[in-house]
Amino acid sequence: MDALKKRILEDGKVLSGNVLKVDSFLNHRIDTEFVLEIGREFKKIFSDCEINKILTIEASGIAVSFATAQSFNFCPVVFAKKGAASNMGNDVYHASLYSYTRRADFEIYVSKSYLTKGDKVLIIDDFLANGEALNALIKICEQADCELVGCGVVIEKAMQKGGEMIREKGIRVEALARIYSMDAEKGIEFC
Ligand code: 5GP
Repeated sequence: MDALKKRILEDGKVLSGNVLKVDSFLNHRIDTEFVLEIGREFKKIFSDCEINKILTIEASGIAVSFATAQSFNFCPVVFAKKGAASNMGNDVYHASLYSYTRRADFEIYVSKSYLTKGDKVLIIDDFLANGEALNALIKICEQADCELVGCGVVIEKAMQKGGEMIREKGIRVEALARIYSMDAEKGIEFC
């Protein structure tokens, strides 16, 4: 998506530890018009697919999933919660993951009421790095015995192993921008 690549080059900041900061438009201050455009782009890419639910992870996946859902007949968005809330009960799917940005292990939970056999699910997230977040969401789809149609990520850091690992499982992964390399001084190079 050319407009996204342009925006990353204009507004993105490369931090130490291979972290790209895009919080001026994607995951802190949200450029709502632009994120809706991202949602329409996911619809174009997955236009051949029947999807009745979008699954994501809090917090950064929610806005882009909400935007994408509007292009898929306003289907529901289910977001995995980090840490079980006291009102979730025991009827939950859960998976563990290591957070790239927080540098810590944690569990995610989804209520069994909101993801069931027969659902055709598109997983959406903001970033794909080592694949921990997508992998945990995939495990939750497996527990729910639903049909995983594919995964859409806004930005894939292709120099990390996550995309390759998930595609090797035969799962469709689409990224709107794929970063080949990034460096605070040399800048960002796309695939
Ligand atoms: P993974 O689980 O694939 O290693 O990393 C993806 C998750 O970590 C995403 O949910 C995203 O929130 C976060 N993340 C990974 N890399 C970056 C990055 O470079 N910048 C930002 N802002 N978030 C990242």
